[in-house]
Amino acid sequence: IHGLIRRTSLFNTSRIDHLSHDSHDRDAKVFLHFGDMSDSNSLVKVIKDVQPDEVYNLASMSQVRVSFDIPEYTGDVTGLGVTRLLEAIKNNKKDAKFYMSGSSEIFGSSLPPQNEETLVKPQSPYGAAKAYGVYMTRVYRTGYGMFAANGILFNHESPRRGDTFVTKKIVRSAIRIKLGKEKEVFLGNLDTLRDWGYAKDYCNAIYKIMQADDPDDWVVGTGESHTIREFAEKVFGTLGLDFYTFSKFDERYARPNDVYNLRADITKIRTKLGWKPEVNFEQLIDIMVKEVYDEEAKNV
Ligand code: GDP
Repeated sequence: IHGLIRRTSLFNTSRIDHLSHDSHDRDAKVFLHFGDMSDSNSLVKVIKDVQPDEVYNLASMSQVRVSFDIPEYTGDVTGLGVTRLLEAIKNNKKDAKFYMSGSSEIFGSSLPPQNEETLVKPQSPYGAAKAYGVYMTRVYRTGYGMFAANGILFNHESPRRGDTFVTKKIVRSAIRIKLGKEKEVFLGNLDTLRDWGYAKDYCNAIYKIMQADDPDDWVVGTGESHTIREFAEKVFGTLGLDFYTFSKFDERYARPNDVYNLRADITKIRTKLGWKPEVNFEQLIDIMVKEVYDEEAKNV
C-alpha cells in the first residue's frame, strides 16, 4: 500500500504509524510519498513509480464549514485534484482501478431518500467540488473505458473521526465535561438530519465496489437519519449528563447554507453487491464513547 502525504511541519500520521514501513516496523507494508492533489507532477511521479493496481482517492479539504472560508482552495484540491489524478492514471497506468470518494453533500437540498438517480444540488463549496469529482470520474469511465467507480458515502464516523466533525466533537466534549476537564460545548445548528454509519462498515462497501464486475456509482448509507440534537442527547445521556445544561449555541459553527435532510436509499448496493451496514446508530455511539473515554481517562 502506497499513500500520498502532504508535507507539514508537525507530525500528523499517528493514526497510521503502526502500519507504516517508514516509522517503526520495517516489515510493515505501507509506504508514504510526499505529494499534493494540487501538484500534478507529484501525482504523475507516484503513479509512474508505483504502477498501482488500484487507486483510492480519499484526499480532500473535507470540512464543509471551512469550505465557505476557502472556496477556491477547496475547488482546487477536492474538485480539480480528481482530474489531475485521473489524468495521471490514464496516461501512466490506464488499467488501474480508480475509486472516487464522493459524498452525500452533493445532494444538498434534494429531498430524501437520496439514491444514485437523485438530482445533484450541492449547498456548499465542498459539495460542489465533490460533485465535479463525481462527474469527472463518470467521464473517464464512459469516455476512456477506465474502471472508475464512485462511492457516494453518507456521513461515516468512528473514534478516529477528526475532532472538528460534529459527532466526534460532541463525544469528546461530553467525556471531557464528565471528567471535569471542560465546562461546556459550543455548537451550531442542532436540527439538521444526518444518516450516520460506522466507517469500518463503509470500508467493506468500498471493497465490494472495487471488486464488482463493472465500475458504477454507489450510494452507501444506513437508510436511517437522526438530528444532531438526538445524537447529542444520547451521548450525554449515556454518560449520565443532561445535554442542555452543558451546551450553548455559537454562530461560528452555523453555516451560510446547510444541508438539512440526508437519508440514503441503499437499494442498489444492497441488491447488486449484497452490502448492508452491521452497526446501527446506538452501537455507533457506544463504540465512539467507549474508545474516546478510555483515551481521555488515560490522559488526565
Ligand atoms: P458534514 O455533514 O460533512 O458537514 O459533517 P459535520 O459533522 O461537520 O456536520 C454535520 C452537521 O452538524 C451539519 O449540519 C452542521 O451544521 C451540524 N453542526 C452543528 N454544530 C456543529 C459543530 O459545532 N461542528 C460541526 N462540524 N457541525 C455542526
